[in-house]
Amino acid sequence: MRRMLAALVAACALAAPAAAQDVGQVLEAAAAAMGDVSTIRYSGHGWVANVGQSHTPADDWPRFEVTAYDRTISYGHRASYEIYNRRQGDYPALGGGTPLQGEQQHVFFTAGEYTWTLAGDDPVPQPANAEVRQLDIWMSPHGFLKAAAEADDASATALMLEGRPLTIVSFAALDRYRVNGTINEDNLVERVLTWVPNPYFGDMIYDHRYTGYQDFDGVMFPTVLHSHQGDPRVNPGHNWMEITVTGVHPNLDLDRELVIPDVVREATVPPVVVRSTQMAPGVWRVSGGSHHSIGVEFDDFIAVVEAPQSEARSLAVIAELRRRVPDKPIRYVVNTHHHVDHAGGLRTYVAQSAAVITHEASRDFYMDVFLHPGTRSLEPDILSSLMPWFAPNRIPALELVSDEYTLTDGERVMNVHAVPDLGHVGTMLVVHLPAERILINADLYSPRLPSAEPPPVNDSMRTLAATIERLELDVARHVGVHGLVGSHVDFLRIVNGQ
Ligand SMILES: [Zn+2]
Ligand SMILES: [Zn+2]
Repeated sequence: MRRMLAALVAACALAAPAAAQDVGQVLEAAAAAMGDVSTIRYSGHGWVANVGQSHTPADDWPRFEVTAYDRTISYGHRASYEIYNRRQGDYPALGGGTPLQGEQQHVFFTAGEYTWTLAGDDPVPQPANAEVRQLDIWMSPHGFLKAAAEADDASATALMLEGRPLTIVSFAALDRYRVNGTINEDNLVERVLTWVPNPYFGDMIYDHRYTGYQDFDGVMFPTVLHSHQGDPRVNPGHNWMEITVTGVHPNLDLDRELVIPDVVREATVPPVVVRSTQMAPGVWRVSGGSHHSIGVEFDDFIAVVEAPQSEARSLAVIAELRRRVPDKPIRYVVNTHHHVDHAGGLRTYVAQSAAVITHEASRDFYMDVFLHPGTRSLEPDILSSLMPWFAPNRIPALELVSDEYTLTDGERVMNVHAVPDLGHVGTMLVVHLPAERILINADLYSPRLPSAEPPPVNDSMRTLAATIERLELDVARHVGVHGLVGSHVDFLRIVNGQ
């Protein structure tokens, strides 16, 4: 089927005004102009952004200053070593992860199928990111030419773009990713673009732009590396990273192969495990790993607060709630805010015809992109591949909250309140169960064990305290989408610095 599709696409390409070219000649000319490298090391400075953590869906990803950047790639070893320091710098502290406290160092190792970071001196396996990190090696300027020359499906198409003659060389990397490299009139690689799987965007644009080429010891290398990831409606993709390159060292003698630690070799993506505890009659905390959900039972349906992370996670939460409450469907899911780690599992609920209760500022992005039921090729989910619902109403159904929203069956009451004026996010909702005196929040206050060191007080905690006071919410217990369950007495003591 895939082959038939490819043949169809190729036939259409021939019919288009663009001209097919001899890909071998194009790649040879580019390799001659760019110079051959077996290894390359480059360094510089710039900025990097937090993908999936924008202040509102209309905003760019929040940025951090990169004070020092250094990367070495060994093509023969399929290896990359990247290290950089980031700090908040002069970038506005709006969005997830801001304000960044002090300066942090990030290290990424990639060797073939393996990727890991470091915590102190200890390797931390990153099996979920390994494939994209490996792909990234073949998206570097010289890596692209090498991988395209090796590929047996590479094609070259000549186009006029904004009055410039350009050639796009395209091939499938790692048997899965369509990689397109744009080669300009000087035979230099000025853009390499692919799509990677993402819970928000499905097949998400992942785009490196290479400009300001200079000669470094006979090798041409860009002095500006500018990358995008994200929303196909803009640019395309939001701004993700930019490095101004100040030093390039081609063909260093790197005789020492990266040693892959055993813990990295043996790591696999951990299975999703959730467990549930009853907090009050018909109120279930479904916990697991770093994010939790809360199921609330009404007369003839269930409402779930938060669908974090992924479809696998949502399926586990749905199964656990079905075990607890076998006879009621999930009709509503509350989305505390649009950050990808908190919203990544929403599509699974939409696929089962639940309405999403979310902030009105998330509407356009959710309707146009995130909850769109169109196909996803890299990581199909239930919504994109099975289209399970048939409903006369508009799907997905969004219940939009600008200020407050109440869900009730006449007995149980669940109030959803917007929390304005937050630096963390502009789409925040908290959920209050007045009869149970429970307040559910994400990213504002994450209760810890009473015996543990209390969390440092920040603006989000202060805003939560002010919101409780302003709305006169009766709260006995706080339930964090992160962290544990804590008493309001403890919360007030922490916020008031006692
Ligand atoms: Zn967040
Ligand atoms: Zn969070």
